[in-house]
Amino acid sequence: ASGYTLLRDPHHNKGLAFTEKERDIHYLRGLLPPAVISQELQEKKLLHTLRQYERPLQKYMALMDLQERNEKLFYKLLINNVEELLPFVYTPTVGEACQKFGSIFRHPQGLYISLKERGKILEVLKNWPKRTIQVIVVTDGERILGLGDLGCQGMGIPVGKLALYTALGGVRPSSCLPVTIDVGTNNEELLKEECYIGLRQKRATGQEYNELLHEFVCAVKQNYGEKVLIQFEDFANHNAFELLARYRSTHLVFNDDIQGTAAVVLAGIDAALKIVRGSLYEHTFLFHGAGEAGTGIAELIALQMSKQNKITLEEARKKIWLIDSKGLVVSERMESLQQFKKPWAHEHEPVKNLADAVKEIKPTVLIGCSGIGKTFTKEVIEAMASFNKNPVIFPLSNPTSQSECTPEEAYTWSKGCAIFASGSPFDPVEYNGKTLVPGQANNAYIFPGFGLGLVISGTIRVHDDMLLAASEALAGQVTEEDIRKGMIYPPISKIRKISAHIAANVAAKAYELGLATHLPQPENLLKFGESCMYSPLYRNYR
Ligand code: NAP
Ligand code: MN
Repeated sequence: ASGYTLLRDPHHNKGLAFTEKERDIHYLRGLLPPAVISQELQEKKLLHTLRQYERPLQKYMALMDLQERNEKLFYKLLINNVEELLPFVYTPTVGEACQKFGSIFRHPQGLYISLKERGKILEVLKNWPKRTIQVIVVTDGERILGLGDLGCQGMGIPVGKLALYTALGGVRPSSCLPVTIDVGTNNEELLKEECYIGLRQKRATGQEYNELLHEFVCAVKQNYGEKVLIQFEDFANHNAFELLARYRSTHLVFNDDIQGTAAVVLAGIDAALKIVRGSLYEHTFLFHGAGEAGTGIAELIALQMSKQNKITLEEARKKIWLIDSKGLVVSERMESLQQFKKPWAHEHEPVKNLADAVKEIKPTVLIGCSGIGKTFTKEVIEAMASFNKNPVIFPLSNPTSQSECTPEEAYTWSKGCAIFASGSPFDPVEYNGKTLVPGQANNAYIFPGFGLGLVISGTIRVHDDMLLAASEALAGQVTEEDIRKGMIYPPISKIRKISAHIAANVAAKAYELGLATHLPQPENLLKFGESCMYSPLYRNYR
């Protein structure tokens, strides 16, 4: 290969870090200015440049350009500055990027599969330059973050999420495949937009939709085998639940919005219980929001309760209550409830609003996941604090503007007693001379390590016990010192180590369940997992 090609290959390009010797051997003489610069210095310079940009979207674009130009440098920068750069590579900035995808679109990333490719998806997969794929993140763009239907422009999500699979979980970038399935969009503005990049039609639904998705998952399995992970991301909830139910017994499928959220929140509750005491089953849970996040978390808590207390799932579910847009989910509403809510319809009088439900149910843990901001009012938090020494308050709705309350409000209204974690990031709060650090129930704690665990063990199906294993591993990474500061999640800067522990625990569970195909089982899964993790350091080319 020519030097010119080498410089344009993002997997191998090192820019000015090519050594004198490499410049000789690889026909690079003259194609680079004479200076030789180390990767460390390149990283430092880039970070400096990034910090000069004022708008988050500029940082996002600079980072995406870097990924297209020099992959290793992109990942080194990201890994070493996770806390600072995560919000630009993923939420919230990726949301803005998706909204403006048409105008910032320069270089196609990932694979687009639209209704036009019906009947040809296997051929489309073969157009992708890489043969070995381990993780696919796929969206249909219908519910991008909290931004609604962005159609084909949802591609930013699989691209961003896979960057985190690599940076935080160590899955090799060459074995990651971002996919957007375009069945149209119901977003009127996009349909009118002159430069819209997607299909200009209303969303296909029903049989037409199901057939395209079926062709996709089957083509994936046919082309890449049983061990490829298909992660569904940001589907509208009716499709999300159905796809998971339909394919979980035949394919390796995972939904981060439902299952990843569940594992990360359960880990936070686990850690919170070290402060408030008592087992899960001794607590009472109330959810404001009964969608993907709400019912996903509720199911996993119930599963864990049933295991810890040797009781049935039905028994465990009685400790958990949900509220949707029509009020408390109760048996009287059974007929009109969507399938995924039915298990939660307990015997109770109908209750319309949250404050009344809190006073009736007297939960010890209150979780917000309705997407509606400011719903944990002073009345709600004060009620929680009136019958709990340390009320556990999780306002999970994103983005920041939709948070059910701020940490400041939760701490003030509970007189500093609340155990708090939110979906969006918040700064520490001073309360009565004490610094309280709000937790962030960020899905990025779980999915990269979870995926790595599946990959290193060659697992062929996701089992709920693996979610519990991931959750326990994350809770296990919270130190006594973190807890003393009121932190129920470990610092995100330790994420590579956290991911390795999660991967090891998930893989161990997969072997135990007989779902792992990488045999024989490595003796030390933690060491093995770490050794498999992608390194962003330049290699020497001979
Ligand atoms: P979803 O599937 O659309 O569910 C939303 C739920 O909220 C539905 O049950 C809906 O009721 C209910 N709801 C809507 N308006 C309400 C109101 N005024 N009062 C009471 N309930 C109301 O959405 P999702 O995927 O679960 O996501 C929900 C929120 O959680 C989003 O803001 C998301 O960003 C956040 N989230 C956070 C994390 C995290 O912190 N790690 C992870 C995932 C999601 P109906 O069913 O009656 O429509
Ligand atoms: Mn999502």
